[in-house]
Amino acid sequence: MSIPFQSDDPFEYGQIQTVTPMIRRLVARNPGAFTFHGTGTFIIGHGQVAVIDPGPDLTEHVDALLAALAGETITHLLVTHTHRDHSPACRALQAASGAPTYGFGRHGSGRYEQGVQVEEGGDMEFVPDRQVRHGDIIEGQGWRFECVYTPGHTSNHVCYRWPGERTLFSGDHVMAWSTSIISPPDGDMRRYLASLERLLEGDDQVYRPTHGPCVRDPKPFVQAYIDHRNKRLEQILECLGDGLRSIVDMVPLMYRELPTAMYPAAARSVLASLIYLYEAERVGCAPVPGIDAEFFTL
Ligand SMILES: [Zn+2]
Repeated sequence: MSIPFQSDDPFEYGQIQTVTPMIRRLVARNPGAFTFHGTGTFIIGHGQVAVIDPGPDLTEHVDALLAALAGETITHLLVTHTHRDHSPACRALQAASGAPTYGFGRHGSGRYEQGVQVEEGGDMEFVPDRQVRHGDIIEGQGWRFECVYTPGHTSNHVCYRWPGERTLFSGDHVMAWSTSIISPPDGDMRRYLASLERLLEGDDQVYRPTHGPCVRDPKPFVQAYIDHRNKRLEQILECLGDGLRSIVDMVPLMYRELPTAMYPAAARSVLASLIYLYEAERVGCAPVPGIDAEFFTL
């Protein structure tokens, strides 16, 4: 179960970093268990720029971005997904620049079911001006991106691939420092695994996630992510085989290394895995799949 995690990511709050000649980054001051040091907003190009994942609604972050971009024009606001640490700053940047926003759709829009209840971390107000779909091309001055639809972490998650730089902006789908949270119902393990497989078809040299350091030599890393999830599925089947029926009993056994404060998040991931096994007709449950349901092998 060894994912070669990387957490070394030198930066300073409030300081724009030059990551490559064409990519700059500013990390917002919203550190946390799910955001690492904070949201890393990317600025693409010079003069006429795109902004990827503007970030949370933090005045300090928006002001620092606008100050850094004084004399330049924002032409595109790209969003990987609609968690509150990614899209809300679009509103202030759009008010200042008039640039259109791009994304798959509003929060929960990648689900087929109507009226699905989505978790609290969603930015329910965000509606992209331009809806993007898998394979769409977005072009600006000095850059050309392909949209790679990667549902799983959320149903509307999109990565942006820059073939010219062999770079993938991977959002929260693949991060160097941590696995990503898959929280049903908007988070979906089956789609997440398929979205990881989808990345293996690419020819990227580096992934630039929205949190933490970049992932170099990404294919073995993505494979380790897939192996890790498959191992978790096996662990769950073992737990069920040993007579454990509830998520609350499985989490402490499966996540011995995790602080107990993280158990609720781990429980969401276990639920996502159990729903995956349930849909594959490998486990049954009563009454219906949910955090308090009883599960058993079929
Ligand atoms: Zn997220």
